[in-house]
Amino acid sequence: GETDFDAIILGAGAAGLMCAALAGQRGKRVLLVDHAPEPGRKILISGGGRCNFTNIHTAPDRYLSENPHFARSALSRYTAQDFLALVERHGIAWHEKTLGQLFCDGSARQIVAMLVDECARGAVDLRCDASIGEVSHADGLFRIALREGSFRAPALVIATGGPSIPKMGATGFAYDLARQFGLKVVQPRPALVPLKLPPGEALFRELSGVSTPVIARCGEGRFSEAALFTHRGLSGPAILQVSSYWHRGEDVGIDFVPDRESGWLLAAKRARPRAALRRVLEDALPGRLAEALSQRLAVEGDLGSQSDKALAAAEQRLRDWRFTPDGSEGFAKAEVTAGGIDTRGLSSKTMEAVKVPGLYAIGEAVDVTGWLGGYNFQWAWASGFAAAQAL
Ligand code: FAD
Repeated sequence: GETDFDAIILGAGAAGLMCAALAGQRGKRVLLVDHAPEPGRKILISGGGRCNFTNIHTAPDRYLSENPHFARSALSRYTAQDFLALVERHGIAWHEKTLGQLFCDGSARQIVAMLVDECARGAVDLRCDASIGEVSHADGLFRIALREGSFRAPALVIATGGPSIPKMGATGFAYDLARQFGLKVVQPRPALVPLKLPPGEALFRELSGVSTPVIARCGEGRFSEAALFTHRGLSGPAILQVSSYWHRGEDVGIDFVPDRESGWLLAAKRARPRAALRRVLEDALPGRLAEALSQRLAVEGDLGSQSDKALAAAEQRLRDWRFTPDGSEGFAKAEVTAGGIDTRGLSSKTMEAVKVPGLYAIGEAVDVTGWLGGYNFQWAWASGFAAAQAL
């Protein structure tokens, strides 16, 4: 026999748990299914185990999508303050770390426990360790086959996330399912991911472990945070942020002296004509980096012996140092996936597929990708909320 529900939600991650809890609490009979042994595994590893669960500066311009307006409606109807109110109702202690990023004082486990508790309040039937077989649609009903039998509902929510960190159970299942129902998929690519540098940039590999505040730029992305040199290339928050904007073949520009005023090297020449460039850079940057950059700038001798033009050019290079990464560290290391189910096939109010009534897609599976700093979870909560109101 078949078991009937009002909605079947595939994926008990951030978006699926939120959507299931809210729909259940609205009186819907909800089945929530995941192949992992426990729900919310990415929540558990998020934010270094403390879950950066939202960002108080959430705004649509902090998300990438081929349709930049798509996220606006859902984000405005379920805000960072709304999620924070839920966290506080559960007595979970939190703090703002930096740049509006809210973290648990204790553990990400508290966020998963909260969502599981909210699901229980909505009498959600949560099944983990499930292997989802065939998914079909006929006569207004979606059917899914699990080992224990067949289940059906007039609504099906795709909440299985994106393929980043496959060893956590992440898959491209959402895209396969979307295509099965005629939805388009914007080419998925790793985002919030370290970038690799080609062998020609080997000098910088020797700087592995050096971190410094920069302004990193790529395309429309511009981020003032720390960059970190690694043995393979570049990482740190500023680099993770611009990686979401980076496409193969493009440069990343780095301002290594964001705190120095324009004309700083010329002023240094007047104040310290006998100093070598390297000495002046050492005041502004970590020693090993100062050395590597001054070698590459090839400014020999003391500042006083340099023309103003040469120093202006050196400063200009320090403010827009060009790297051409030869790749990223890929889905294995990407915190999120950019691209995904094309929003042009979805309603921005309800997340329902325009051409397949009853089919919904939420969370990271959709072509909406947030900046680093709690924005991706806020999208998961907000899109889950939007669908839950419509189910
Ligand atoms: P997920 O949370 O990935 O949930 C998808 C669920 O679907 C999973 O439970 C998975 O097991 C299940 N699933 C997948 N395929 C199948 C299948 N074939 N059958 C059945 N079930 C399936 N974002 C932030 O905002 N703040 C952070 O601090 C943060 N830290 C992060 C740290 C790391 C290391 C990583 C990898 C990501 C981090 N993110 C963070 C991003 C955030 O975790 C995701 O954007 C968010 O989890 C997406 O929610 P989701 O519900 O769409 O997908």
